[in-house]
Amino acid sequence: MSSEFLLIRAKDELVCGLGECGGSVTSILQYLLDNDIVDNVLTIKKEGSVYDAVPVLISNSEELNSTAGSLHCAPTMVADLIPKFINDTKLAVVCKPCDAMGINELEKRNQIDKNNLYKIGLNCGGTLMPKQAKEMFELFYEVNPDDVIKEEIDKGQIIIELKDGTEKGVKIDDLEEKGWGRRENCQRCEIMIPRNTDIVCGNWGAEKGWTFVEMVTGKGKDLVNNGIKEGYIESKTVSQKQIEIREKLEGIMINLMKKFGEKHLIIEYPSLEKWDEYWNRCIECYGCRDICPICWCNECEIEKNYMKNSIELPPDPLTFQGIRLGHMSFSCINCGQCEDVCPMEIPISRIYKKMQRKYNEKTEYIAGFSDELPPLFSSTNE
Ligand SMILES: Cc1cc2nc3c(=O)[nH]c(=O)nc-3n(C[C@H](O)[C@H](O)[C@H](O)COP(=O)(O)OP(=O)(O)OC[C@H]3O[C@@H](n4cnc5c(N)ncnc54)[C@H](O)[C@@H]3O)c2cc1C
Ligand code: SF4
Ligand code: SF4
Ligand code: SF4
Repeated sequence: MSSEFLLIRAKDELVCGLGECGGSVTSILQYLLDNDIVDNVLTIKKEGSVYDAVPVLISNSEELNSTAGSLHCAPTMVADLIPKFINDTKLAVVCKPCDAMGINELEKRNQIDKNNLYKIGLNCGGTLMPKQAKEMFELFYEVNPDDVIKEEIDKGQIIIELKDGTEKGVKIDDLEEKGWGRRENCQRCEIMIPRNTDIVCGNWGAEKGWTFVEMVTGKGKDLVNNGIKEGYIESKTVSQKQIEIREKLEGIMINLMKKFGEKHLIIEYPSLEKWDEYWNRCIECYGCRDICPICWCNECEIEKNYMKNSIELPPDPLTFQGIRLGHMSFSCINCGQCEDVCPMEIPISRIYKKMQRKYNEKTEYIAGFSDELPPLFSSTNE
């Protein structure tokens, strides 16, 4: 099915006000729960402050009001929570492009049953690391980070709203030139509109207070139409001009991403000597493996007896990363989780992303999007 577009927003005034762009996502999730189409919703929720978001599994539609709104200091990944904890229920999941790509890779490995899943995609222009965001707001915005009650990325700026109602914005380009701004992985992220979901929601091209929805699958189209029919959301047609604005913004972001991709993976890619230094720095905590949504094997090769040396130590960092590279780098979705958790600040995802690019050039395999498993993929662990 070719995509269709609409502008939508919540019919319930409360939800409309709570939502980022009219509360459409929250209303659609409420429709799914109220009508027993899904048992649970997996999304994320603010805990105390904008710097503290956690994944939540919700089965009562009223609770969804507390999840409305966009959290930009939440690079949280939800894809791998599905096979670990919730694969046996009918589920709706809210996904940024990296979440949707992680889900795609896990579906192909029979770790997620796609028939049980509604994927509600969000456009994404990037997220910030909470700790770095706090420091940045103090330094560049000259505010107490605890006074920030809302943040958004709009018109090339990172904008914050403070407790007293004032707003401050700083250009993303200026922040990123100085080494601040969005996470490095987000800067080079290739997908801003996750068209591997059932519907994709965003503000690009939409009027204020409305969401521009792209209905990608037949299931997604039925979902939106039924949500309208049952009185959860209202809709307006999208004009050609609005479609063009959205395309233009996507194009601008893609060009920006290419610039950063070149910078991180070619111009400023670490030298062999530098990688040597990094591997010596690695403390083998395995945090990068444990957090990676694509590292799914039930029994990790690294922990098999034949990989351990005589005094029961884990393999050296180079062997450990070599095994991981050989196992999953072709499917790396550039989510950046490995780098976010690394206590030794090793730019670990650069090497995985670079390998994935090379694999893509040779095989045309697009991690997170291709319908088939990567060419030459083999696993003894499915
Ligand atoms: C980090 C981020 C960046 C975005 N960047 C863009 C952009 O550049 N261009 C654009 O057109 N649209 C972007 N969006 C989408 C836009 O902000 C709205 O989310 C979308 O229009 C839906 O609005 P709504 O009122 O219908 O959603 P709501 O009814 O407010 O529901 C939002 C849903 O998103 C979930 N959510 C919030 N933060 C996150 C997160 N970090 N990760 C996963 N789920 C989350 C909430 O839990 C809730 O379920 C972005 C969203 C996020 C979260
Ligand atoms: S990696 Fe891409 S999809 Fe994921 S948070 Fe960053 S910009 Fe968004
Ligand atoms: S290697 Fe890192 S960037 Fe790539 S999928 Fe795994 S956690 Fe994400
Ligand atoms: S998270 Fe960092 S320190 Fe820990 S094993 Fe991975 S690369 Fe090494």
